[in-house]
Amino acid sequence: MKAELIFTGTELLLGQILNTNALYLSRELAALGIDLYRITTVGDNRLRIRDAIVEAARNSDVVIINGGLGPTEDDQTREALVEACGVREVIHQPTLDKINDYVRVRNRTPLQSNEKVAKVPEGAQVFVNSSGSAPGSVLEKEGTAYVLTPGPPHELMSIFEEHLRDWLKRRFQLNEVIRSKVFKVVGIGESSAEERIRDLINSPNPTVAPTVKRGEIHFRVTAKAPSDVQAADLIAGMERRFMDELGDFTYGSDQDNLEGVIGALLREKGLTVSCAESCTGGLLTSALTDVPGSSDYLEFSAVTYANRWKEEFLDVPQEILFKRGAVSREAVKCMAEGIRKKTGADIGLAVSGIAGPGGGTLEKPVGLVYLGLAMEEGTWSRKQMYSGGRKVIKELSARGALVLLYQGLKGVLKDDGR
Ligand code: AMP
Ligand code: MG
Repeated sequence: MKAELIFTGTELLLGQILNTNALYLSRELAALGIDLYRITTVGDNRLRIRDAIVEAARNSDVVIINGGLGPTEDDQTREALVEACGVREVIHQPTLDKINDYVRVRNRTPLQSNEKVAKVPEGAQVFVNSSGSAPGSVLEKEGTAYVLTPGPPHELMSIFEEHLRDWLKRRFQLNEVIRSKVFKVVGIGESSAEERIRDLINSPNPTVAPTVKRGEIHFRVTAKAPSDVQAADLIAGMERRFMDELGDFTYGSDQDNLEGVIGALLREKGLTVSCAESCTGGLLTSALTDVPGSSDYLEFSAVTYANRWKEEFLDVPQEILFKRGAVSREAVKCMAEGIRKKTGADIGLAVSGIAGPGGGTLEKPVGLVYLGLAMEEGTWSRKQMYSGGRKVIKELSARGALVLLYQGLKGVLKDDGR
């Protein structure tokens, strides 16, 4: 069961308004399990709208056309549809009566254009518009259903809610449900992750689709099935296959976030953490403290921005700062060990990098960031190259430090970076 959407209105093509109706209708159709084949936008031009309708009907069972049902001359959508289908227009009397009542109550003179609004294609089923005047309608012709819907978003919504959704369900016997679950992955690049689950990404049902978000990859698994239970089964099956490949990198699902999962792990293990931040300026601690109850495991954080404090407060040897620099593997390891020792926390976490836009060199370019983790099992460091503006690099650095901490807690850190 395939659908196409056609939006009409020159204002859409000129960028004067945002096509929010497209967002609304495509979401609603997806929720019904209808495959949306294409979205077309056409200006207020009868011939071009007609051609778009004829073209859409070639591929789709239902063509939903939005906008251009108003009283003015530029509104030509219904005219285009009747021309495309070779049917006449008729007055929908209840709508005309409603408009005339409205006009009479306000002591206005009835206009010829009122009749235009009250017209529908002959033979169409009419959806009364409870939020405005122009009615919606469905015309079925030679195996295709053509649906006319008004442009004002609240009118479209009320017609969809009150009539169109149920009509689609009944007409196309849509009794499928769509459910989805998002798996959140860190510590692996998008291409490597996709490489591992290539087979899954090609699966038609459930589908698996990645999105990249602030240092994480989210994979949305979406299942279509006749019932909730069957959809849940399909998702569970896909989850097992997904975890076989990416389980080591998956920290949670749906509403989980990395700082929350880290908090739960720290609490479960009874461990505390202290941070030594440089280029992140407190962002890492801010993320950790976004979790309610984080005072249970967060001991202390220092923003040791100037080298003097890396040396004096964190005991990073002057020689390292001098020879290797503050942005180096050695320095960040000393920072993590220093803050751990100084505060007596079980874990020390450190970040030092070049957020830019200035301060980069050939050897140490903007975006170069070192992360350090010191815990009972040992000390690790990690080199990262981030790109983006200053804010993005700071944000990615803080997220990177969280990933390192998460991996340390999960015991998945390898010997490299020790
Ligand atoms: P129309 O009946 O197509 O002339 O549209 C009436 C009003 O609805 C326009 O002035 C727009 O403000 C709004 N409108 C029409 N189409 C859309 C759309 N696709 N998305 C958002 N608003 C729309
Ligand atoms: Mg218009």
